Amino acid sequence: MGALDGKVAIVTGGASGIGKAIVEAFVREGARVIVGDVDAAGIGRLIGELGHNQVDGAEVDVRDEAAVERMVGQAVRRFGRLDIAVNNAGVGGFAPIQAYPLEEWDRVVGISLTGTFLCIKHEAARMMAQGKGGSIINIASLNAIQPAEGFAAYCAAKAGVAMLTKVAALELGRHGIRVNAIGPGLIHTPATAPMTAVPGLEAAFIAETALGRAGEPEDVAGLALYLASDASSLMTGQTLYIDGGASLKKYPELFSFVGAAGSGAG
Ligand code: NAD
Repeated sequence: MGALDGKVAIVTGGASGIGKAIVEAFVREGARVIVGDVDAAGIGRLIGELGHNQVDGAEVDVRDEAAVERMVGQAVRRFGRLDIAVNNAGVGGFAPIQAYPLEEWDRVVGISLTGTFLCIKHEAARMMAQGKGGSIINIASLNAIQPAEGFAAYCAAKAGVAMLTKVAALELGRHGIRVNAIGPGLIHTPATAPMTAVPGLEAAFIAETALGRAGEPEDVAGLALYLASDASSLMTGQTLYIDGGASLKKYPELFSFVGAAGSGAG
C-alpha cells in the first residue's frame, strides 16, 4: 500500500529536475498526477515513462491565470478530484542589481512568485469546494533566507513564496488545507548545470554545507512526499530547508566566481 493511494496531485514544472522526481515519487506511492509545464515534449516523455493511467499533462505557463484554472479543472475532469498540489515551477536569473533588466525581474518574479500565487488561488478554491482539505506544497529556496550576489529577483521572489506560504496556511487552515514550503539548497538539475559548470563554484557551495554534499532531486522528492502525506497532518505554514546544512553558514560570493560585479548579466 502506498502513502498516497487514491490521491490526486498537480505538480507544476513537473517535466524536469525536482518536479519530475516529485511526480515519480508520488506515482510510486499510488497517486495520480497532472503535470503542469510549458515543456510539452517533456510532459510527453514523462507520460511515456509512467503511463497514461497514472499521469496526464497540462501545457501551462503559471503566469497565465486562465491556463492555471484550466489545469486545476483538468485534474478534476481526468482524475475526479484534487488532494495535493506542488507549486514547483520557478526560474532564476543572474545580474548585478544596478544592471538588472526590468523584463528579467518581471520574468523571474512572475513565474516564481506570482505563478505560485495563481496556483494556490485556484487549487485552494477547488479543495474548499470538495470540503475534504488538502496539502499544498510550494517550492521556495535556501535563497528565501540566504542572500546570493546577482540573484536579487530570485531571492526576493523566494522570500515572497515563504511568506505567501504562511498567509495561505493561516487563511486555509479552517478548511483543513495545509500549506507548506520546501527550501532546497544546491540540487543537481538542468537549471543548475550552468552554475555547477563554473570552475570551483560547486566546491565553494559544498564547503559551506555541514554535510559536505549538494543534493539530488530525489532528496527533495522525499520531503515533498512527507508533506503530501498524512504523516505531516499537524504541520502547516512551515518552510523546511533541505540543503545539507547550507543555511547554517553563508552563500558563496558569486561575483568572485563570475566576475559580474560591475557588468550586465553574467
Ligand atoms: P528545472 O529547470 O530542471 O525544472 C523547472 C521546470 O519548470 C521545467 O520543466 C520548466 O519547463 C518548467 N517551467 C519553467 N517556466 C515555467 C512556467 N512559466 N510555467 C510552467 N512551467 C514552467 O529546475 P529545477 O532546478 O528542478 O527547479 C524546480 C524548482 O526548484 C524551482 O522553483 C527552483 O527555483 C527551485 N529550486 C531549485 C534549486 C536547485 O538547486 N535546483 C534550489 C532551490 C530551489
